[in-house]
Amino acid sequence: MSIAFAAMRRSSYTICTTWTATFHLRKMSAESLAAVTRLKDSGFIKTQGLVGGKWVDAEDGKTLKVENPATGDLICTVPYMGQKETSQAISSAYETFQSWKKLSGAERSKHLRKWYDLLTAHKEELAQLVTLEQGKPMKEALGEITYGADFVEFYAEEAKRVYGDLLPSPLTDRRLLVLKQPVGVVGAITPWNFPLAMITRKIGPALACGCTVVVKPSELTPLTALAAAELALQAGIPPGAFNVVMGNASEIGDTLLASPQVRKITFTGSTAVGKKLMAGAAETVKKVSLELGGNAPCIVFDDAELDVAVKGALAAKFRNSGQTCVCANRILVQEGIYEKFANAFADAVQQLQVGNGLTEGVAQGPLINEAAVQKVESFIRDATNKGAKVLIGGKRHSLGMTFYEPTVLGNTNTEMLISREEVFGPVAPLLRFKTEEEAIHMANDTNAGLAAYVFTNDISRSWRVTEALEYGLVGVNEGLVSTVVAPFGGYKQSGLGREGSKYGIDEYLELKYVCLGNMKSA
Ligand code: NAP
Repeated sequence: MSIAFAAMRRSSYTICTTWTATFHLRKMSAESLAAVTRLKDSGFIKTQGLVGGKWVDAEDGKTLKVENPATGDLICTVPYMGQKETSQAISSAYETFQSWKKLSGAERSKHLRKWYDLLTAHKEELAQLVTLEQGKPMKEALGEITYGADFVEFYAEEAKRVYGDLLPSPLTDRRLLVLKQPVGVVGAITPWNFPLAMITRKIGPALACGCTVVVKPSELTPLTALAAAELALQAGIPPGAFNVVMGNASEIGDTLLASPQVRKITFTGSTAVGKKLMAGAAETVKKVSLELGGNAPCIVFDDAELDVAVKGALAAKFRNSGQTCVCANRILVQEGIYEKFANAFADAVQQLQVGNGLTEGVAQGPLINEAAVQKVESFIRDATNKGAKVLIGGKRHSLGMTFYEPTVLGNTNTEMLISREEVFGPVAPLLRFKTEEEAIHMANDTNAGLAAYVFTNDISRSWRVTEALEYGLVGVNEGLVSTVVAPFGGYKQSGLGREGSKYGIDEYLELKYVCLGNMKSA
């Protein structure tokens, strides 16, 4: 999301009359009311930040509204925090780091494993929370909880396997070793589109190797982060190891950047904010990991299996209503299969049921906010003004709010905004190409390089094209590729570093070379 659009977000803050954040249940739709009441009664809606193991309000009592994008209902308020609370969280994380890093990997592993067990045991409640604050359908929300919890389990195991090295010494009286040690306090800033998984993908490996963290979830989806933090406390992860602050994003970000105690910034979000953080981290020379925006091409060759390509492109494009960084942003279709693909794809898109994610059978929830809808509208307007044809959808959904009809555009070209920038919504532009070379050129003609998809039945072509694509993730005949065991991250302006897999833990480790000299031989 661009900074301009970010400025149009739905949040606002108010001064709470009491120091306790409040629930607003009266005006809610029956479905949301039932879910919120259930979650509130079972303690899953936390309405305070977590600093040093204590649930706290903002010092000045300011609060932030958390709303359900499907209904506009106000779910509750949370503290609108800033510099003071972030500084306290950093101090607490720094203090806890001194003892947490000294535990053995096996001990930390036990705590993480317990946290994983709790996340899994409460996946229904957590999924409901995700759907309530983010809007995605329950089925997808449940998938996110499983995916998110998997990072905790995976890194609970990896905690025991942070191996160093013994290097062959060129001198016989020396022994050379490499130790791996935790980098220190980590500032983790996460977006709204995966309210759990973007957090666990960072703090799973961080906690596993002995770091402590200050997490800043998006102001739009803080509740899942807070519920996950509560479960971490219940799992015995020590107070201060996992802090959560939310509110004034730039103030929190600047405080994390300025602190010499914070040794690492890990961020998932827009490229514009990522660049700011990277520049800000230079002042204190912090380690930085960035998972930024994408502009994923999905290339369908003439020799692709039509059903596989349609199903794959549908999954790659319309998951989370098109609001993921790996969503297919441009569907490049070879001219020989173009008409057949366009018809079959539009038919499949028409079947997607739009509605409140809490309703059974819904496949497309609302967009996150009004700014997101306006962005989609402006991209479609730009495309149609330049000759694109709406094959299906193309307007706001009759359900109102921020629901948008799943849309397919034909006759799009590389001059249109929609092929150059991430639309982050349920719009699939189809672009025609003639040759393999042309497809590769079109696919790589962008500053982004996160995910790409290729549909072909020719195994040699699948290798040639995969190797030529300047992307961090490539799905061949597959539209859903993310898994905890594989490295996730981008080329070019899509980011720095990798999350998940055996590689992900390295982002939180320093290497220390040790030379033992003057060793006496017998
Ligand atoms: P965003 O506007 O960049 O926000 C991401 C996070 O940064 C939020 O917590 C936001 O806080 C915070 N933030 C905003 N301005 C900040 C500042 N000046 N200093 C510090 N923090 C700041 O992105 P988004 O709209 O939430 O997410 C969508 C973007 O994320 C898309 O571009 C998508 O491609 C990308 N994304 C990438 C990946 C990946 O793995 N590569 C995964 C998911 C999403 P508030 O929300 O409180 O303002």
